[in-house]
Amino acid sequence: MRERLQNKPVQNQFDISGLDLPAILATIEQEVRARFGEGEVADYIDALAKVPLDRFGMALVLRDGTIHEIGDSRDPFSIQSISKVHTLTMALDAVGEALWERVDREPSGDPFNSLLQLEYEKGIPRNPFMNAGALVVADVILSNYAKPEEALLEFMRARSGSADVGGDDVVAKSERESGFRNIATANFIRSYGNIVNDVDAVLDFYFLQCSLGMNCVDLARSVQFLSHSGFCDVSGKRVVSWELATRINSLMMTAGTYDAAGDFAFYVGLPAKSGVGGGIVAVVPHVMSLCVWYPGLDEKGNSMLGRYALHRFAQLTGLSVF
Ligand code: GLU
Repeated sequence: MRERLQNKPVQNQFDISGLDLPAILATIEQEVRARFGEGEVADYIDALAKVPLDRFGMALVLRDGTIHEIGDSRDPFSIQSISKVHTLTMALDAVGEALWERVDREPSGDPFNSLLQLEYEKGIPRNPFMNAGALVVADVILSNYAKPEEALLEFMRARSGSADVGGDDVVAKSERESGFRNIATANFIRSYGNIVNDVDAVLDFYFLQCSLGMNCVDLARSVQFLSHSGFCDVSGKRVVSWELATRINSLMMTAGTYDAAGDFAFYVGLPAKSGVGGGIVAVVPHVMSLCVWYPGLDEKGNSMLGRYALHRFAQLTGLSVF
């Protein structure tokens, strides 16, 4: 069926005063509920496989800190690859531009856990959001933070304002037990010298970041600095410069949603980062950050109804970076 394209642009995309955000969220929730059951939960570990397909939450955090939320927005879930945004920010903070000598900034067009390009690109991952790139980022963090795991938890807690953020040992353990591909990837990169720390330590850090449990409100707040020119209102601290915030957003746009980043730009038009736990964070630069969660995934690994919710959000609000 041919999609009916919307013809209701918001005149000034930074002015959201005319938008009834609670009503828009209610409409989205109603539409999503009617489609509960779609998609498949990630089944490579038990903790993800048993999450029922009737969970949906969404939270928006405006620049002034106002929160709009709906559904299961306070239920914690496994953030998985969403953490790659935070670890990238930490690595850039530690080494700046030098990071780009070790990780590229191009979309891969291949699945997130692919090893294909790594061999002919000599161990330089295409971008920091595929697993290979995140493993190099983890290595950089290990080299530059005295207590890397504590630093990550501290970063997450400060950004989200939630002291409860923590790793889930059961998830981290099953990530390791089923992590053959990540273990292979890390060793492969090590063979090119682009991982310098003990491979197991790098993997432990990576599995910890994947295992963090957070809810939609925490996660939307944790990336609020990306919607506020690098300033985090939750902690009252500048996290990155305005320019770096725009750059992280651009990487999320081109590589944040696996090999569906093109489709996300096409349908949603907002920088976003997804995880196989069914969460997706997104940013409307200068306006708000948001997070949506529905555990059923599409064939690319993005939350099926999370993606639909963001598509509808973009249509109903007229918010887009384009
Ligand atoms: N733990 C998963 C992996 O490393 C994370 C994948 C994801 O969320 O993209 O394969």
